[in-house]
Amino acid sequence: MSFLPVFLDLSAGVVVLVGAGPQAAAKLHLLRAAGARVKWFLLDANSDRAASLTRHYAGPIDVVLGEPDDAVLARAIALVSAAGGETDAVLSMRARALGVPVNVVDRQDLSTFIFPAIVNRGDVTVAIGTGGASPVLARRIRERIEAILPGRIGELAKFMQRHRADVVAMRKRSPGFSARRFWERIFDGAIAATVLSGNMRDAEASFARALDAAASPVTNEPGVVHLVGVGPGDPDLLTLRALHVLQDADIVFHDELVTLDILDRARRDAERVLVGKRKGRPSTGQDEINRRLVEAARAGKRVVRLKSGDPFIFGRGGEELEHLREAGVQTIVVPGITAALGCAAEAGLPLTFRNEASQLSFVTASTAGDAQRIDWAGLADRRTTVVVYMGLTLAASVRAGLIAAGRDPQTPAVVLARGTQPGSQTVTGRLDDLPSLAAMAGEGPALLVIGDVVTRCVRPSLSGRAAEDGAAALVKERDENVQPHLRIEKYIESGIEIKS
Ligand code: SAH
Repeated sequence: MSFLPVFLDLSAGVVVLVGAGPQAAAKLHLLRAAGARVKWFLLDANSDRAASLTRHYAGPIDVVLGEPDDAVLARAIALVSAAGGETDAVLSMRARALGVPVNVVDRQDLSTFIFPAIVNRGDVTVAIGTGGASPVLARRIRERIEAILPGRIGELAKFMQRHRADVVAMRKRSPGFSARRFWERIFDGAIAATVLSGNMRDAEASFARALDAAASPVTNEPGVVHLVGVGPGDPDLLTLRALHVLQDADIVFHDELVTLDILDRARRDAERVLVGKRKGRPSTGQDEINRRLVEAARAGKRVVRLKSGDPFIFGRGGEELEHLREAGVQTIVVPGITAALGCAAEAGLPLTFRNEASQLSFVTASTAGDAQRIDWAGLADRRTTVVVYMGLTLAASVRAGLIAAGRDPQTPAVVLARGTQPGSQTVTGRLDDLPSLAAMAGEGPALLVIGDVVTRCVRPSLSGRAAEDGAAALVKERDENVQPHLRIEKYIESGIEIKS
């Protein structure tokens, strides 16, 4: 370690900034964000730019024409110079002689301190340094930290700050009370999770209860359940909040649609429990899932319930939420990218389009009985894009329902299978061919999309008209698990018609 990171209190004096270019402006911005009082020296007579810049910053900025004299330098907390050329070297020497810390932008040889890359969430600040070796490396590291640090961690710091006095008072009142252990429980448990989700009112109420309960040493901090949507399969489509929650989990409940790539993002030590419905195999019933979620939460665990796509879209998330709330378990819902949105994005298929598709319906049909209950008449308008979830094996009923309701059999249609996952498949054709398109798409999960916008689907795909040999190629390809970008070449090789 060649530099020691320290946090400087800038309210204690003045920072002297020299130079008028964009680098000086960037430093001015940073110094002001940290609450510094800045004396800004401009070396040429053109102060228009400076005047326009200072207008953006409230608070004390003193703009001076010329160079700082020794009296000013000697009183400064630090000198930051972006003057360029010889001026920087001279200023650096003078500051050193006076014992004032100096930073010359992009000139480590002239500096006694350097600025780190900073991740800033209110009062929570992370400083990253590479000893000046590579600003690019520091920036990349910063991006990674940005991604893992919850957006509201600064609010959590404020929350804890606000309640410090309460906790100190409690320590004075109850000799057995450990403030450190109390804070750790708050941080690791439902209350911090509630602050991070933005629900400050619940967090305040739970905190007051936790503090009361802490007076008696036996109470456990109750756990929390996060109902998390993980998107259609590609782990890059997880939200940042889903990722944070996964990395914090004690136990993860998931069903089969949640891919291994996503489970890999969970904290290494988290217990993983497969629950949920499995076609043709023994499955865990909804009551049993509800019971186990409550049990784990009551044991004080950080429980994560993963749902494919979004929990509130055909995911029974609503039922689980109601059950958990009735059981008095703190529950936080984390939205996910529903299959329709993830798959459409992958296929370059705009689900709405000006003048062409002004209405979008998500429907589900997992049994023929479900298909009969759908109000097909309400989906007959040609400007409606219809997305059918769980309909792969019911393509014939979907076709029958829509055509009987008056939808043109020639309406473009597509089956999007295993969207955003390796081996994903897009099979386009007409509503009339829907059952054979579904057959060609192979295994689910899959969506059926019907509507004029399907012609705009930009992803090269297998056309329904390619029929039998296309299906054979698909099966072969699936078995070989070919990556999507290689697929097009394979089709060309095998003479299958490509639509783009
Ligand atoms: N809550 C989920 C839907 C669960 S129902 C969501 O919001 O996406 C399960 C159905 O979702 C599947 O039968 C299929 O129709 C659709 N589905 C889920 N993942 C999919 C994927 N990767 N590709 C295509 N369809 C998918």
